[in-house]
Amino acid sequence: MTFQDQLLTCEVCGKTFIYRIEEQRQLADWGFPAETPRRCPECRKQETSAPGLRAGVVKWVREDKHFGFITQRDGSKIFFHHTGVVGDPEQVMRENAPVWYEVMSTERGPQAFNIHLRE
Ligand SMILES: [Zn+2]
Repeated sequence: MTFQDQLLTCEVCGKTFIYRIEEQRQLADWGFPAETPRRCPECRKQETSAPGLRAGVVKWVREDKHFGFITQRDGSKIFFHHTGVVGDPEQVMRENAPVWYEVMSTERGPQAFNIHLRE
């Protein structure tokens, strides 16, 4: 797979932004599907309050498998508790598992739920 900087236009605010090689490589390394972002980084940040499924990759899971963190598309990490996992926790609660998840806000900040394996 070859990467090159792409000049894109945000479909929300209309601004031009660069989709950099480094970002494309990083996302590929994390196992995200190859797709061109339709929104600029600023609009993507605001998107974190929007409902719906997002693609992520499990960063790490605590040994007792009660909680862990998911790497999000923007590279930030989001907390999850094992009760937020749907389906077989053995499949989901392992490092580098590609997952879908939703985000809810809690008193302690954002938390992932409805986490299931991304085939
Ligand atoms: Zn934008």
